[in-house]
Amino acid sequence: MSARREGRVYFVGAGPGDPGLMTARALELIASADVILYDRLIPSEALSGARADAELGYVGKEGGGQSADQQEIETLMLAHARAGRNVVRLKGGDPFVFGRGGEEALALRAAGIAFEVVPGVTAGIAAGASAGIPVTHRGLASAVALVTAHEDPAKDDQSLDWDALAAFPGTLVFYMGVRQLERLAARLIAAGRSPSEPVAIVERGTLPEQRTTLATLATLAAIAKQREVRPPAVTIVGPVTALAEQLAWREPPVLAGRTVVVTRARAQASSLSERLRALGARVVEAPAMRTVARAVELPALADFDLLCLTSANGVELLFERMGERGLDARSLAGLRVAAIGPGTAAALHDHGINADVVPARSVAEGLLEALAETEAPRRVLVARAADARDVLIEGLLARGAEVEVLALYDTIAEPIDATGMAALADADYVTFTSASTVRFLLSQATPGPRTRIVSIGPVTSEALRAQQFEPHVEARRHDIAGLIDALVADAAGSHA
Ligand code: SAH
Repeated sequence: MSARREGRVYFVGAGPGDPGLMTARALELIASADVILYDRLIPSEALSGARADAELGYVGKEGGGQSADQQEIETLMLAHARAGRNVVRLKGGDPFVFGRGGEEALALRAAGIAFEVVPGVTAGIAAGASAGIPVTHRGLASAVALVTAHEDPAKDDQSLDWDALAAFPGTLVFYMGVRQLERLAARLIAAGRSPSEPVAIVERGTLPEQRTTLATLATLAAIAKQREVRPPAVTIVGPVTALAEQLAWREPPVLAGRTVVVTRARAQASSLSERLRALGARVVEAPAMRTVARAVELPALADFDLLCLTSANGVELLFERMGERGLDARSLAGLRVAAIGPGTAAALHDHGINADVVPARSVAEGLLEALAETEAPRRVLVARAADARDVLIEGLLARGAEVEVLALYDTIAEPIDATGMAALADADYVTFTSASTVRFLLSQATPGPRTRIVSIGPVTSEALRAQQFEPHVEARRHDIAGLIDALVADAAGSHA
């Protein structure tokens, strides 16, 4: 009887926090894993590339670690691997730098399970680089030590030789809780390091909220307290830290420190979320709805002289339905094509169609106005969501056109999870990109009192007002770029 093939365990470093600092190999393994067991300090987007059917397990520890948990993690990894699953053991930074990766690998070796180690960018070095601190520098430091210590400040740490650390001829990089800073400085000074030795604390290195605090060993504790330094942070000791004054290179991004809730359906949210994150925002996706394609019969496209599309999703689904029948862009050759806005036009462009009509105002009324300036259509196909507004159809009928509606999808409610709910109550901004997102979201939750409401345009704003919410910001251009511009202008203005 042949045994079932065993899975393999991959110890993968997820880097210090910026998702762009994950390795190509890490992304590849995350995308193919059956199971991902992840720790606390991994980039928030690290799991977004996981397979939809992958099993994701959070096994992180808050604060200090208990070896009992460690035992459980090892047991879990072994069980999955023995059941034939490929397991990614995802850890912050590098898995073999203070990540207990070595211990877990020993347990696998003892059990005869194959594993692979994928190094990651370690926080101590990355946080320095990101703050303008080279951990080595000719003439200043030709050695660097990575150091960790017990998290419990009450316990006297016997594992570190402070005399040796104080005498170390180079940069010291401490990975540990900020509660220990006072003791760390006192110990190094007592062991002979100069009280005037420059020190830097880098909090949330490589993340949009990164902050650097410069001090000396003598002033470290007081300054850290005054600045309310919070974990995760690394503390770098040595003359190289003074270089941060000249080499700090990150510009504070415009939305740093702001939380923005994105309420679009998950399938459509990513481009908005990515652009907000790139501007430094903390983005929480709270989709209150999703779209479900309908099984539809395509009418004979050649019978129409105008095709109207009112969403990028509609474009995708139309081409899917066409593809099923072996059709491509050529079957739209005889039709004029109208797109409600730039997002819809871009989706058409991706399928080889340049829209003939794109109104300046991305609403049904705007589309009607733009169409009024063109030759009157005779037979119009409107491909769109089942529950869309009828303004477009009525307007076309009023112009004497024959109109057929192709309802490609339904929009249905999706429950908002606890993270989304918490963010809504306290976010700086909540964005609404359609009247349906307004309806679906407000039926489940309401934004908190300090949260500024951003609307993509007049139709969305009307839907908000209908529910007694006056938008604080309305985009002038009714597309994603316009929405982001309006939000950024608001954040940069008096509401900073
Ligand atoms: N394996 C990880 C380290 C795990 S120990 C690595 O190679 O980076 C956890 C410690 O790493 C934290 O207490 C903190 O000191 C440090 N750390 C992790 N992420 C950090 C970040 N983004 N900025 C600063 N320090 C960080």
